[in-house]
Amino acid sequence: MSEKKILLSEREIPTHWYNIVADMPNPPKPPLNPATGKPAGPEDLRAIFPMELIRQEASRERWIEIPEEVRELYKIWRPTPLVRALNLEKELDTPAHIYYKYEGVSPAGSHKLNTAIPQAYYNKKEGIRRLTTETGAGQWGSSISMACRFFGLECMVYMVKVSYNQKPYRRILMNAFGATVVASPSELTEAGRAVLAADPDSNGSLGIAISEAVEDAAKRDDTNYSLGSVLNHVCLHQTIIGQEAKLQLEKAGEYPDVVLASCGGGSNFAGIAFPFLKDKLTEGRNVRLVAVEPSACPTLTRGAFAYDYGDVAKMTPLLMMYTLGHEFMPPGIHAGGLRYHGDSPLVSQLYHDGLIEAVAYDQTRVFEAAVQFARTEGFLPAPESAHAVRGAIDEALRAKEAGEKRVILFNLSGHGHFDMSAYESYLSGALQDVPYSEEALRESLSRLPVV
Ligand SMILES: *Cc1c(COP(=O)(O)O)cnc(C)c1O
Repeated sequence: MSEKKILLSEREIPTHWYNIVADMPNPPKPPLNPATGKPAGPEDLRAIFPMELIRQEASRERWIEIPEEVRELYKIWRPTPLVRALNLEKELDTPAHIYYKYEGVSPAGSHKLNTAIPQAYYNKKEGIRRLTTETGAGQWGSSISMACRFFGLECMVYMVKVSYNQKPYRRILMNAFGATVVASPSELTEAGRAVLAADPDSNGSLGIAISEAVEDAAKRDDTNYSLGSVLNHVCLHQTIIGQEAKLQLEKAGEYPDVVLASCGGGSNFAGIAFPFLKDKLTEGRNVRLVAVEPSACPTLTRGAFAYDYGDVAKMTPLLMMYTLGHEFMPPGIHAGGLRYHGDSPLVSQLYHDGLIEAVAYDQTRVFEAAVQFARTEGFLPAPESAHAVRGAIDEALRAKEAGEKRVILFNLSGHGHFDMSAYESYLSGALQDVPYSEEALRESLSRLPVV
């Protein structure tokens, strides 16, 4: 009998985060000040981030110690289980061994709490009283709301208006933790008022909500801004996922041939993949790392590797990353957490250097995989996580074709219990694939900033 579930004890929660920059052949390019075009120094970031996170953002140290208070809070739901998908393997009739790391057991329902807690911790420690952020479907908003509550910080969430109106449950979850949630674009900021003046019926976008949250934080001394993906320190905090998974696979006597995760801003992919990529970079281990994205927002597979803004109002530093252009409006797919025009500079550099792979899928094929997974393994994946499920199933089918036992590991980044309308749409046959417009993409890429 093979083991179904591999658990660790609390004592085996990692003591350090792993910083991939120490082992990258080409370190990432620095962020640039949007006004001067010069590399952004700590001074440029101080208005919105605490010093310790600025330090982590630029750090080249291989291991960064996790504060004891943060590890104590991680114990609420960590270590997370690693599960062998035996039922799915049987249904696929594949010789592959499929393992998933389940991050949906966090009280926020996804991996995002792994970084929300240290971010709230460092802000509190440096005397900040209030955090602002943006959220799309509400995964990040609910994580940071909870973390703020743990540390006694006020939390202000700018929620993309279309989600605010259509997805009330995560908003109510944020309210339950005491956060203030406003629909973005709002009348509270210059960025919001400018958008509303041009288009009173604007549905909002992540890029607009980021502009509002950054403006709010920059204007007040007691307030900082907090981002749930993309940045180096966020990817860093997520590496506890891969470190735990490595230890768990070791206990099962296995090592992965391929590691997959969904990729929006890149943080859950970085989290599970970087500790294995370390083995590839420093010991020459033969392991493939695959980022899975929606074909409606194909940042890595179709975007340009260039400096670009993180938001619509051009307030954030310029990041060297794969981008579809800061004005690109991805179509309204159900995996809201993957609808961002850019990607992590770390993930982007590694992809550019050929050290990781990327693949894109249409949403109907993604939901087909999600339902197949739920019917065999029981967990109903978040639409974002379902991209990794699709990728893992296709890897298992290729192993079957080749007649090879391959070990496949993927990150099940969150549960889909707040995404029932998406499942309803799929199950009723109404869900459609929404291709992005090739012309809109070309147009958007033609407006990348010149640096
Ligand atoms: C936000 C989110 C993602 C995408 O964000 P990354 O930073 O790319 O990880 C994936 N899965 C879930 C469940 C999410 O909430």
